[in-house]
Amino acid sequence: MKPAAFEYAAPKSVAEALALKTRYGEDAKYLAGGQSLIPAMNFRVMQPTALIDLNGLSELAFINGDGDELRIGALTRYSAVEHSPLVAERLPLAVEVVKHIAHPQIRNRGTLGGSLAHADPAAEMPVLLTTLSGRVRAESARGSRWIAAADFMLGPFTTILEPDEMLVEIALPTLPPGVGAAFQEVSRRHGDYALLGAAATLSLGTDGTIAAARLVFLNAGDTPKVAGLATTQLIGQTPSAELFATAAQAVDGDIEPMGTLHASPDYQHHLARVLARRVLARAAERAQAQPVA
Ligand SMILES: Cc1cc2nc3c(=O)[nH]c(=O)nc-3n(C[C@H](O)[C@H](O)[C@H](O)COP(=O)(O)OP(=O)(O)OC[C@H]3O[C@@H](n4cnc5c(N)ncnc54)[C@H](O)[C@@H]3O)c2cc1C
Repeated sequence: MKPAAFEYAAPKSVAEALALKTRYGEDAKYLAGGQSLIPAMNFRVMQPTALIDLNGLSELAFINGDGDELRIGALTRYSAVEHSPLVAERLPLAVEVVKHIAHPQIRNRGTLGGSLAHADPAAEMPVLLTTLSGRVRAESARGSRWIAAADFMLGPFTTILEPDEMLVEIALPTLPPGVGAAFQEVSRRHGDYALLGAAATLSLGTDGTIAAARLVFLNAGDTPKVAGLATTQLIGQTPSAELFATAAQAVDGDIEPMGTLHASPDYQHHLARVLARRVLARAAERAQAQPVA
């Protein structure tokens, strides 16, 4: 199908884009990589009255190291993150996660800001943001505000962004020595949306016991699901396969998978237990390989 008719504008600056959004109103949409918006328009699931094309806004495409964070512009393509030496050095988890998103053609166009604003519970970027407890910056003609990951996604395809706000920047905390991280997912074919995925960070104290742990699932509920029950029991323990196997049994209480065309909720629960065990074990290995000085 073809999309319904719409107006098109290509602003030259963020200020101009924000002014256009105010002028066109709630039914106008920002166009970033178009990898979700354009298919939705072609199916007429979405019928924006106007598209405000962000692709000319080079000021929104950047990756900077800033203290203990990476600052990434909303228009940064997945492929820029995937191939960035800075990200590989400062936050290898981000490279590991992004490689799981779709195919290279989609990663060449799709943007971090577009993925987060789209808020698909099966997407990888919201899980990365949640795992790291990152934040995003939104701008509107009214001003600018930072939003914590925990407050950003409200439900499937719904964020806390106001209609006049644009996502402009993403801040991802880097991981200090003694913290290991890992991401894995299961999909039917490489590049497909995941049936379920899991990310973990695990922090070891100087005595080698677990000081902190975080485990977050994708496609296990209406937003990224943080597995608090499973990780609480890890604190103060020495990492071991048995410990992670026991903790993984507790994830059933942390998630609410809704099932997909190819996976029943029961199967997704099974995947969550298996992936929890694997990512926690890998994160622990990586933490042990980089001990606290
Ligand atoms: C075949 C295929 C496979 C895919 N597989 C995966 C996958 O495995 N994992 C995955 O995560 N995704 C997958 N995707 C989706 C892809 O990641 C999209 O790129 C992403 O969801 C949207 O980013 P975008 O830059 O393309 O945004 P767009 O499609 O341009 O926009 C998406 C939405 O975000 C809004 N938006 C965009 N930028 C901003 C901004 N700066 N501020 C406010 N709102 C904004 C738009 O108005 C729109 O509502 C797949 C897509 C395709 C076509």
